[in-house]
Amino acid sequence: MKLDALNKIARSGDNTAQMPALFLGHGSPMNAIEENEFVAGWREAGKAIPRPKAILCISAHWETRGTLVTAMENPPTIHDFGGFPQKLYEVEYPAPGSPELAMETQKTLTKTEVGLDLKWGLDHGCWSVVKHLYPEADVPIIQMSLDYYQTPQAHYDLAKELASLRRKGILIVGSGNLVHNLGRVAWDKLNEIGYSYDWATEANEKMKKFILEGDHKQLIDYKSHGRAFDLAIPTAEHFLPLLYILALKEENEEVAIFNDKAVAGSLTMTSVKIGMNN
Ligand code: ZN
Repeated sequence: MKLDALNKIARSGDNTAQMPALFLGHGSPMNAIEENEFVAGWREAGKAIPRPKAILCISAHWETRGTLVTAMENPPTIHDFGGFPQKLYEVEYPAPGSPELAMETQKTLTKTEVGLDLKWGLDHGCWSVVKHLYPEADVPIIQMSLDYYQTPQAHYDLAKELASLRRKGILIVGSGNLVHNLGRVAWDKLNEIGYSYDWATEANEKMKKFILEGDHKQLIDYKSHGRAFDLAIPTAEHFLPLLYILALKEENEEVAIFNDKAVAGSLTMTSVKIGMNN
């Protein structure tokens, strides 16, 4: 264990203001290399917050048995998608890892056994968005997996325990999509920003209302809201990172919504920022 580095993270908490937390709707992996209003939104979000000591990213694209955190010094860039142009496979995001933060996270989550992973790296849910926040790849980053076998409530409860990391200069990023139904994607409308099916609009609007009202219970119970939610969340993995970020909200913190548009009928890029710059 690198005690110096660990102490540095601990010490940095002494006078560090609470970092905001971000949920970023990531959409197509092509956002990694394209310029559009969503990418601009992520970039602005990055500029508006203090520079973090390190990033903890919860991506829709890493589901495991149990909860793991990446703990390698240099996480590889994982190109976990198929059928995209060659230039997307050539993107590397060589940000350093942070074994220190991995161990700190393990220590912070007292109710969950967290494993240290040396095999994963950064999947596109993480690098395709964080790349726009920190294009120099100079902020250390780790990923935390989603335990496939846990309930939404269990994910939310686990995330609550991460709150103390925010006071140690750690930026927590959840990457997924509020509305995400690949089976219903209108492939011919992939670049038509704002194209949304009725049920997608309905679910997205209701989700935003619950987010802004702080009614997290309704979001944890997302399976109880009928057809629009069932279509918007056919599987949990893109929705769960939102619960992680909402769980971090403290009582008087502000919530801001941005990138609130649909693409391809069945995806929404809606993103959420918890906490301001104070
Ligand atoms: Zn995705």
